[in-house]
Amino acid sequence: MSQANTRPKPFLLPDYCKGCGRCVHVCVQGCISFTQEINPLTGMVPVTLDLAKCTGCGLCIEACPEPYGLKAMEAGESFELQDPATLFGARRSTAPEPVDIPGRVIPMPSSEPLVIKGTYAAALGALMAGCRHVFGYPITPSTEGAELMAKLLPKMDGFYLQAVSEVATVYHMYGCGGAGLPSLTFTSSPGLSLMLEGISYMIAAELPGVFIDIMRGGPGLGNIGPDQGDVKLACRGLGHGNTHAITLMPSTPQEMLDLTYLAFELSFKYRNPVMVMADGYLGQMTGKVKLPDHMVEPGLPAWGVYGDLNHRGNLNSSVFLDEATMETRNLKLFDKYEQMKSEARAECFQAEDAEILLVACNTPSRASKGAAQKLREQGARVGLFRPITIWPFPIEQLLPLLPRLKQIVVVEASKNQIEDELRLALSHAGITDPPPITHVQRYGGILPKENEVVAHVQNLLGRA
Ligand code: SF4
Ligand code: SF4
Repeated sequence: MSQANTRPKPFLLPDYCKGCGRCVHVCVQGCISFTQEINPLTGMVPVTLDLAKCTGCGLCIEACPEPYGLKAMEAGESFELQDPATLFGARRSTAPEPVDIPGRVIPMPSSEPLVIKGTYAAALGALMAGCRHVFGYPITPSTEGAELMAKLLPKMDGFYLQAVSEVATVYHMYGCGGAGLPSLTFTSSPGLSLMLEGISYMIAAELPGVFIDIMRGGPGLGNIGPDQGDVKLACRGLGHGNTHAITLMPSTPQEMLDLTYLAFELSFKYRNPVMVMADGYLGQMTGKVKLPDHMVEPGLPAWGVYGDLNHRGNLNSSVFLDEATMETRNLKLFDKYEQMKSEARAECFQAEDAEILLVACNTPSRASKGAAQKLREQGARVGLFRPITIWPFPIEQLLPLLPRLKQIVVVEASKNQIEDELRLALSHAGITDPPPITHVQRYGGILPKENEVVAHVQNLLGRA
């Protein structure tokens, strides 16, 4: 018998063969061939062996990328794949159950206010909340926030990654949130559109993450002017399925910091993404910003897939192929969305005795506040209602104001997107005869101006 015939020959485990053909191409004896037969267990088409001419050279075994595809077997030897639990023991045999490790609040010395732009303020808010993982793809007018993070994070034992796209960005955040770590991205309108599918996955898998959207004029590529045209995406179209996320609407650089900080708290409290939506003007606007008197060193939730022994039994997944299981996950999310309603926030300005109520968010709320003041000076009872959360809409804060109102005027930089949230909230609250609702709107990267709001209200009052 020749020496070649004594060498071990390959043995194929068809369930682990993906039919890549590498072994077919390296075998000079022609012992391995493609087939047409699909393996019903794997959906793959494994190769087939005819070892009559096999020399036992082993090239096919070395070429096979699958650890269990081709194995070397002595003549007469047999092989059966072992259950990993039998080979290595139960997954948690030596590890304690993971527990929640609480975050640590670190007091900060008092400091003078900074004068910084909105995107920088949001970045500082994230850092103070303990975020050390930021992913992003540059897009004006949000890029400065990511730029600042790219400079600061390496010095803070943190990590900034410019992803290959917005689609990649959201899945980096999925991984980070899945590990139980706070993560952030800065984006702008077309970028948010690309992230929606991944946000839906994060909601389904119950993963935290904060998305800062500096809205710009659209639709399409649009321009870099300030806009509010993404409100419907955040409130009604956050990816496929029954998705919702708390959506915060800052109106000053200070709120860019404060609400970004809050977003991390809410994101972990509810295990859900949180949106911070600002118009492009607010992202670029410079203002006085006071730092909080403390910062957070994040803990680690028990559910995180952190990559250590304690957490190795965890799984955060959005895959529920069985319809009944998927329905159960939906019901769990609906329950969570109900709880999120308690987070609704609003600011009222001169609203207690108002007969005409302006409703506005972001920078248009500043113009509206100025308009309300001017109209008060002219003797008109005008106030401002500013939703700080556009979802959930702060309807409980609005309801007490309704009996005195003769008109509601929604001021926004989009076509009825904020107005529709208001109308829907009124309808869900059972308000069948709300005061007449009119609006002041601009589009395409232009914000409504104070004098436009004043003129609109004067028209309503018949004083034009
Ligand atoms: S061991 Fe060598 S001869 Fe035998 S099937 Fe593999 S590549 Fe072909
Ligand atoms: S190299 Fe491995 S996986 Fe690829 S066809 Fe051959 S046995 Fe299958």
